Amino acid sequence: MLEKIDHIGIAVHSIDKARSFYEHALGLTCEKMETVDSQKVKTAFYRVGELHIELLEPLDETSPIAVFLAKKGEGIHHIAYKTDDIRAQLDQAEQQGCHLIHKAPITGAGGKKVAFLHPKSTFGVLTEFCMKGKDNDHAG
Ligand code: ZN
Repeated sequence: MLEKIDHIGIAVHSIDKARSFYEHALGLTCEKMETVDSQKVKTAFYRVGELHIELLEPLDETSPIAVFLAKKGEGIHHIAYKTDDIRAQLDQAEQQGCHLIHKAPITGAGGKKVAFLHPKSTFGVLTEFCMKGKDNDHAG
């Protein structure tokens, strides 16, 4: 079951450049920065009420974020839904004809289990499912 929107991912060329907007123009506080090797990205998380804004900066040009930036430029990259059962969620999406980018969850920021659905099968929005990792209790 989907519980809530967990975060919105935003692709940027440089977190260093983007953070002054989030921290000074919006007045948000950066909760954490983390490099996620599985996706070749650097991330920065800002809490806004119940959800987070996740800034995504590519680590190199082979990063999926670098590919996205080259095609579409900076902007909203994905929407992430928190689920209590990521495997059931993936099975349900696949049964309904969605193209899964990850057939099985991978480890994302904060040690969470994450998996993506391809935007071609989700009406244009890269869709992430995420679930707390077993060894990780705090939100991210
Ligand atoms: Zn995400």
